[in-house]
Amino acid sequence: MSLGPTLAQTRDLVLERVRHDTSFVVATHENPDGDALGSLMGMHGLLTALGKDSKMFISASDLPLPREYRCPALEHAIQAAPADIGERTVVMLDCGNIDRNPAAVLQHGAHLLNIDHHHDNTEFGTLNLVDSTASCTAEIVWDLMHGLNVAPTAAIAEALYVALVTDTGRFMYENTGPRAHRMAAELIAAGVDVSAVNRRLYEEMPFAKLTLLGMALERIQRFDSGALTLVALDAEDFARAEAEESFSEGIVDHLRSVAGTRVAVLIRELTAPESRGKRKVSLRATGDDVDVSAIARTQSGGGHRRAAGFSTTLAVPELTDLLRREIAAQHDPAPNGSAIPTLA
Ligand code: 5GP
Ligand code: MN
Repeated sequence: MSLGPTLAQTRDLVLERVRHDTSFVVATHENPDGDALGSLMGMHGLLTALGKDSKMFISASDLPLPREYRCPALEHAIQAAPADIGERTVVMLDCGNIDRNPAAVLQHGAHLLNIDHHHDNTEFGTLNLVDSTASCTAEIVWDLMHGLNVAPTAAIAEALYVALVTDTGRFMYENTGPRAHRMAAELIAAGVDVSAVNRRLYEEMPFAKLTLLGMALERIQRFDSGALTLVALDAEDFARAEAEESFSEGIVDHLRSVAGTRVAVLIRELTAPESRGKRKVSLRATGDDVDVSAIARTQSGGGHRRAAGFSTTLAVPELTDLLRREIAAQHDPAPNGSAIPTLA
């Protein structure tokens, strides 16, 4: 049996590819978040600084982007794969699973560099730079910038900083280490306006987002002595609150902060006509005793041990039963393998 290359060796191979190749497409997962877009802009900025032909790809179905992530640079992103995709090196960022790739054609580049920090990354690239100790994918991009002696512009520094702040829960999640703070220090020195970023991300909330949060908090359900704290929102709730889909981001964090909660879950019905009948499930764990990415993988999703997600066609009652069973199985595995919890 031969062991795969080490992370350091893969990093060298990625640096070599970037130095050698001339044309690229950079892309990220569907419903891109702060880390996805920050990594996208960071990688594109790195390639452009090296004189490469780079194009950022964002699927039309992901537009318009959530208000807090919009910026002029992203307006140049393309929505269709370029005709010469077969000659380009594709860089897929923050994407644990190729099924989360918004355009299958992006698999048909000359090379596929998979750069990510999800521990359950399926290693779908021709090179897989997957570092699960990185707080965010942008931290890996920042490290590549060091490897290639490229300093970020103020705009790129800000994009990387947004990625860092959002994926570390404002430097408060367990993935926050000395490296994340060193990166923050460097980015601030490169020109990030910290309080402006804070206002944009967290303090210019559309009123409809607060309305939706209010509706969610009114219908919290707790199961199994609070081990599962759950809210389900349907398409009608979004319509009633006049809320966009992305306005539900952050609700699950309120649920996680309730004492006694092991797993917090937000279930939201998707509102786009092509997603009718589908629900998106966001899972958060409060500690190490439940790995929510393992639960998400049983439904073809994935993520991190403490933050994961999946899409499903299951209805809310079935979904709730499934989640209770999966949490109990991990937390309290029964000797015969069945762990059906009794009602609280
Ligand atoms: P969120 O709940 O904020 O949408 O996602 C939390 C984490 O779970 C993120 O790291 C995200 O990449 C991952 N995640 C969310 N939804 C999915 C999904 O459908 N598939 C996979 N593989 N990961 C997901
Ligand atoms: Mn990420």
